[in-house]
Amino acid sequence: MLSVMDSGVVVVGAGPTGLVAAVELALRGVAVEVVERRAQPSGQSRGGGVHPRTCEMLHMRGLLDAVSARAVPGENVGGHFAGLPVPLDATAWRTRWPAGLMIPQDRIEAVLEQRLHELGVAVRRGTALVDVSVGDDRVEATVEGPDGRATLVARSLVACDGGHSTVRTLTGTPFPGRAGTMAAVSADVELAGRGPTVPRTVRHISEHTHHGGGYWMMSHPLGDGADPATPYRIVVGHAGPAPERDDPVTADEVAVALAAVHGPETTLARLRWGTRFSDAARQVEHYRAGPLLFAGDAAHIHAPVGGQGLNLGVQDAMNLGWKLAAHLRGRADVLDTYHDERHPVGARVIATARAQSLLMNPAPEADDAWALRGIVTDLLRLPEANRHIAGLMSGLSLRYDLGDDHPLVGARLPDLSLDAGDGPTTVAALQHSGHGLLLELDGEPGVRELVAGVDRVGARVLDSPVGTGLDARRVLVRPDGYVAWADTGADPTPDAALRRWFGAPAPAPVA
Ligand SMILES: Cc1cc2nc3c(=O)[nH]c(=O)nc-3n(C[C@H](O)[C@H](O)[C@H](O)COP(=O)(O)OP(=O)(O)OC[C@H]3O[C@@H](n4cnc5c(N)ncnc54)[C@H](O)[C@@H]3O)c2cc1C
Repeated sequence: MLSVMDSGVVVVGAGPTGLVAAVELALRGVAVEVVERRAQPSGQSRGGGVHPRTCEMLHMRGLLDAVSARAVPGENVGGHFAGLPVPLDATAWRTRWPAGLMIPQDRIEAVLEQRLHELGVAVRRGTALVDVSVGDDRVEATVEGPDGRATLVARSLVACDGGHSTVRTLTGTPFPGRAGTMAAVSADVELAGRGPTVPRTVRHISEHTHHGGGYWMMSHPLGDGADPATPYRIVVGHAGPAPERDDPVTADEVAVALAAVHGPETTLARLRWGTRFSDAARQVEHYRAGPLLFAGDAAHIHAPVGGQGLNLGVQDAMNLGWKLAAHLRGRADVLDTYHDERHPVGARVIATARAQSLLMNPAPEADDAWALRGIVTDLLRLPEANRHIAGLMSGLSLRYDLGDDHPLVGARLPDLSLDAGDGPTTVAALQHSGHGLLLELDGEPGVRELVAGVDRVGARVLDSPVGTGLDARRVLVRPDGYVAWADTGADPTPDAALRRWFGAPAPAPVA
């Protein structure tokens, strides 16, 4: 059977990256097909939370309330670097969510899939990509699902099919890097008995990490820890030889580890799910090959230390979606900036994951790393060092090189509180549409018009948790929340930036 899609995009994989990419495309009216091998949602915690910048991005699309409602209750204690016992303080980066949210990955996926559904796109579940042919400006994707085989012809294919990407394999795309040097287990468990050291609440990760019998284990409740029936997420490793990567995780090995770390009264009732992971670090060299794009784990893998993978994938997709839509519409062609901007970010995250893995190595022969841990812990107590690492780990300090020295240009615009003429609002509330935003802070609050895909809004900055100061009176913000132009930068008018990013003529200035 041949089904032909007109001017559309095939997204392979309905993990967090594929779902965000599909939402961003559907939001702009692009015909999108999402194929997902799994017949049902995974029901697996995997990624354990979202960092501050991902919170901001979800908020920009009106999705954060639904995500927050599903988060694991706990103290807002801040992020971590290598599990060291100094919380990272991201407040200096002017965010409303300095601690991020702890939420199992499957619950985020449920929110994203629901949003996609509202936009009229149903994930084709139980449908796997089995063949792909990539031309200069179109892709033929052969998929196999409940109705047999079909070929989807599209103008672009976005590979969001995870670390073992079928698209990479089928297209012979190299995945250079290095193999894993360790193996550990991540699992969701139900406990029949809990020793006193098993965490009852979500606190800083350093308080969730315990050692015993040659094991290290990070564990925290996935719900209300006062309820003994609440399931737990555990991540566990052993200093000794590890089973093969593909060996199934067994209830016995998890039970032994639990007892070794938390004492014999900590017993396993049920292993819901478990997987092995390594610290392999690899990255696709080119995120774009004509109509083929790679995002999320399909583009980069690294150890899951610091909880960065899901966040990186969501932010890849936020960078890509609007650019791909503009490209397909024949408006501004900024699609190559997806690779230019996101590849270095992926490389940086891989580097921070490798550095953390080194610091966390529990092997006795790695005791030099434990000496280094002490020194890095002391450094993190210095406010400036803590701020720097908090900016790095939260994603808040990211600044793309957009060719202007002004510190705002290329950086994210904080979620300022605004008076836009009809009651208090915020920058994020003005970004639900996914349009670009020309914010005129010297103009008349209340001026609102849509010009060639850009919302022009006159507003006044109000006092808010992220402060009131902004070293500019007019800023142009891209749909992914990064400032494309500020009137106090190198260019006094937004015209060139509007043309570059939106293919748009400049709107007349506010009188
Ligand atoms: C043990 C563990 C713990 C982790 N902890 C964290 C954490 O705390 N924080 C964090 O940010 N990240 C964490 N991560 C990483 C995070 O889970 C991944 O980075 C994230 O899932 C990447 O999302 P993705 O959408 O790119 O890929 P995936 O979530 O892997 O999604 C890919 C999807 O593609 C589908 N697929 C694959 N092949 C095909 C095919 N041929 N056809 C159709 N569909 C296909 C798969 O079924 C899957 O649903 C962890 C990962 C692991 C393994």
